[in-house]
Amino acid sequence: SLLITDECINCDVCEPECPNGAISQGDEIYEIAPNLCTECVGHYDEPQCVEVCPVDCIITDPDNEETEDQLMDKYHQLTGS
Ligand code: SF4
Repeated sequence: SLLITDECINCDVCEPECPNGAISQGDEIYEIAPNLCTECVGHYDEPQCVEVCPVDCIITDPDNEETEDQLMDKYHQLTGS
């Protein structure tokens, strides 16, 4: 999963770009639900939130590191395909 750090300026640009609906506004900054984030595997070559974030505050979550295969499995589970 990806992680939004506290550098987030709450610009809201990333939320509509997520194909998994994994991004939402949290109490203080935007948040990514690890169970929904495939790092855009299955949808796009690059994570769309990372592409659009103006302050580059989205990183790989060190507590939720996954392989490409694991992310693809999650994509299949989420989409039922
Ligand atoms: Fe925060 Fe970046 Fe998303 Fe904007 S694009 S809400 S700065 S994580």
